Amino acid sequence: MGFKCHQCSSVGNGTSEEITMHWLFTTLIIFVCTTGYSQLHPYDLLIKHGRVIDPASKIDSILDVAIAQGKIVKVGRGIAVTESKKVIDARGLIVAPGFIDIHTHVFVGATPGVFADGIYSVSADDFSFKAGVTTVVDAGTSGWRNFQTFKTNVIDKSQTRILAFLNISGVGMSGDPGQQDVSDMNARETALTIKNNPEVIIGVKVGHFEGSDWTPFKRALEAGTIAKVPMLVECHLPKYSLEDQLANMRPGDIITHAYEKIDERMSVIDERGQVRSYVLQAQKKGVLFDVGHGGYGFWFSEAIPAFQQGLAPNTFGSDLHRFSMNSGMKSMLNIMSKYLNIGMEIPEIITRASWNAAQSIKRPDLGSLRVGSVADIAILSVLQGKFGFVDAGGNKIEGTQKFESELTLREGKIVWDLNGLAAMSLQVKH
Ligand SMILES: [Zn+2]
Repeated sequence: MGFKCHQCSSVGNGTSEEITMHWLFTTLIIFVCTTGYSQLHPYDLLIKHGRVIDPASKIDSILDVAIAQGKIVKVGRGIAVTESKKVIDARGLIVAPGFIDIHTHVFVGATPGVFADGIYSVSADDFSFKAGVTTVVDAGTSGWRNFQTFKTNVIDKSQTRILAFLNISGVGMSGDPGQQDVSDMNARETALTIKNNPEVIIGVKVGHFEGSDWTPFKRALEAGTIAKVPMLVECHLPKYSLEDQLANMRPGDIITHAYEKIDERMSVIDERGQVRSYVLQAQKKGVLFDVGHGGYGFWFSEAIPAFQQGLAPNTFGSDLHRFSMNSGMKSMLNIMSKYLNIGMEIPEIITRASWNAAQSIKRPDLGSLRVGSVADIAILSVLQGKFGFVDAGGNKIEGTQKFESELTLREGKIVWDLNGLAAMSLQVKH
């Protein structure tokens, strides 16, 4: 019986020894060729000539970044294009660690009228990459009773890395009366769920409580202390004073909606336009201030004087959900553009969007471009022109610069490419 090899097209008589020797030889040739190709092209992707800003490494310079097998393997000058299978020319663009949005609501599901497993949350992948965001942190949309549903249905199925603060309310943001039920705010069950999911749950959250009883706050603190994680205070706690909230927070705990101006919470700016002294002291103590823009959480009348008087946000959490994304908030990148036009320097903005955010959730393995890190990368342009930026109160400032997300990598894979930086060029005849 004769045979024809489909790999080398040779033809033989077909004795068993001949077939065995032939396959061994062919396999060896393929191995040598593949190995040779990999040695010639050790990198899967090379980003050339970008302005690399990596706050964790204190780098802000024109450099190349090489990626292999989903990781950053080299950052330096003059890396040869011949060493990579694919090359992106990032001349004139910023190359930064993929951004971390520490305040989102992404426990999306089909339940009407609620955030937990409901239609008020949004799908992370639909919004993250186009804003340069590669990691989102869900702000307590789930509690210990429904976290597993969140993990199974959403977290494990998303390309975006999804981490979570666990709500002290057992049912998370399932609406009233469930989330008001103090008897279902169980510090031990919450801490146990956090400890059993250390790769995903990075903290505990308290918020959306209308009573004056401090039990929810104390239980959240207790769960955070047992599980050794930070606490996120999401306000909507109308009966607690701002001063008392800050006084009861530990260094490393996070207050979000930092610059809101609504009835339910005293604003950080007083009647004379000054940042309240106890607010500045809280930040000095180590309490972290997150923007938490959302639908109501960011007002220029608070954020601008706060920034000018030294109360800059530590992070740019967006409070992404169904109602904020089409309002003044839009995306975390839009918040970053607001700060660019308020007067924050670009490296300071990148720091808050990446390395600060990683540190605030105690994940120093994220938010940097260090060799060995996962290749989560945001490539940005800075557009020049005339732009309008809108806050939660419908107020506008005009600006001349705006960030645009050009290309996003998640674990080395291109997940967003606005203008085809990595695509093949075609000639179009007119
Ligand atoms: Zn929120």
